[in-house]
Amino acid sequence: MPRAIILAERCKGCLLCTTVCPVKILRRSTVVNSQGYAIAQVSDMSLCTGCGSCALICPDMAIRVFAPEKQERGA
Ligand code: SF4
Ligand code: SF4
Repeated sequence: MPRAIILAERCKGCLLCTTVCPVKILRRSTVVNSQGYAIAQVSDMSLCTGCGSCALICPDMAIRVFAPEKQERGA
C-alpha cells in the first residue's frame, strides 16, 4: 500500500500539499512541532495513491512517499 510520511520537524504548516492531493487526504493537524508549526497530516492513508504530488510541491522536503511499485519520491 502506498504511504505518504510527513516529517514533522521539517513541516512548516504551509498546507501547499493539501492543494495538490488528488484524493484530498492531506489536512492540517492539531500537532504542533518544536518550531511551533501546526503540521499537515494524512487523514486516511488507505486512500493514498502514491502519486508523489505532495512530496514534489512541499518546499521543505517534509514528505516522503513510498509506493511499492513506484520509485520513492521526495527527499
Ligand atoms: S507542503 Fe510541506 S511544509 Fe507545507 S504543510 Fe505540507 S508537508 Fe508541511
Ligand atoms: S502521494 Fe498523492 S495521494 Fe498520497 S498523500 Fe501525497 S498527493 Fe495525496
